[in-house]
Amino acid sequence: MFFYMPVQVYAEKDCVRNHAKELCSFGKKALIVTGKSSAAKNGSLDDIRNALDAGGIGNAHFNEVEENPSVETVMRARDIGLKEGCDFVIGIGGGSPMDAAKAIAMMIRQKDADASVLFDSEASPATVPVVLVPTTCGTGSEVTGISVLTRHDLHTKMAIPHKIFAALALVDGKYMKGMPAHIFAETTMDAFAHLTESRINAKASDMSRMCVDAGLRLWLRSKDVLLGKREADETDFLNMLNASTMAGMAIAHTGTSLPHGLSYALTYNTRMPHGKACGYFLPGYLAEASKEDRDYVISTAGFSSVDDLALYYDMTCRKERVEEDILALSVDDLLHNPAKMASAPFAVDERMLRRIAGLS
Ligand code: NAP
Ligand code: FE
Repeated sequence: MFFYMPVQVYAEKDCVRNHAKELCSFGKKALIVTGKSSAAKNGSLDDIRNALDAGGIGNAHFNEVEENPSVETVMRARDIGLKEGCDFVIGIGGGSPMDAAKAIAMMIRQKDADASVLFDSEASPATVPVVLVPTTCGTGSEVTGISVLTRHDLHTKMAIPHKIFAALALVDGKYMKGMPAHIFAETTMDAFAHLTESRINAKASDMSRMCVDAGLRLWLRSKDVLLGKREADETDFLNMLNASTMAGMAIAHTGTSLPHGLSYALTYNTRMPHGKACGYFLPGYLAEASKEDRDYVISTAGFSSVDDLALYYDMTCRKERVEEDILALSVDDLLHNPAKMASAPFAVDERMLRRIAGLS
């Protein structure tokens, strides 16, 4: 059994302000990496800039990370970071800016390398330091070594083979206040997918299950908010964000499994948001799992059955009808990913993948 969690994590209200000194300890000038607008609107960008200013640390801002960031975006940000003389990277946002920040940190450190090193498992994984501030409750990227990038050349998304962990994660649920309901629902579903796929995983251990168990129990506390049964409050955002961070610690050890593997081509081909795309395949995955694993996940998360989870997905993420030829592309994509196929704790073949995808 092996447990490795090298990220210093603070999860508390106002933690950027409270830990400004640590934030400023990683270099002289930060490249702040964000999406288009949410970090500016939810206060996280101001908090980071104020903390850097107070510590006399410079910054440059790259705000062009798209959802499901591409290799091309990473390389553009690297050029700006080098031109500006940045010696560490701060990623603020959902999984897209956080994953991009990790890859950008690698490319800034390896300034003479081209993009091919990102996907070359023999290449050095050296990076400049990375600080991450999550503002969605889905990916747990703040505590994983994972960076998923869009490969336009291959028409899909792919995790880079290097493990890149942040030095510091500042986790504050206040940035999620005012988040559109669909983003809250979709990212919450991603965290639930991580918990499920980590539990039902060939690499699961007692320690990864410990993270899953704690995450599912937190997730359960606020799950009904997504059904509109009551208004989300500060505690709900915190519960879901902490559940997402714990889910991240779980997948940092096991990786994800078949639903994530099937989701990549679905998102590439339909632009379906990540959490919604993973959730699409979760009922099918649970149906194939052992009764013990299925019963554990379903009951710990407060569902009465797999159908009850499917209904919850429908109501919170608004399930969309997906064309069969698109789902067939997802199955084909996963069939070409033997490592992901082997992540399930049971034998997987094409017929099973088609069943999980709802294909006849
Ligand atoms: P995202 O793609 O980072 O962001 C989705 C949307 O949410 C964007 O429009 C973003 O706006 C907005 N947003 C972010 N925070 C907000 C807030 N506090 N209030 C209002 N809007 C907000 O979404 P995500 O689901 O968190 O990340 C998905 C990515 O993470 C995918 O690429 C996926 O493959 C990856 N992923 C990584 C891991 C890992 O372990 N590293 C695990 C699972 C998934 P702006 O663009 O304006 O910021
Ligand atoms: Fe995910």
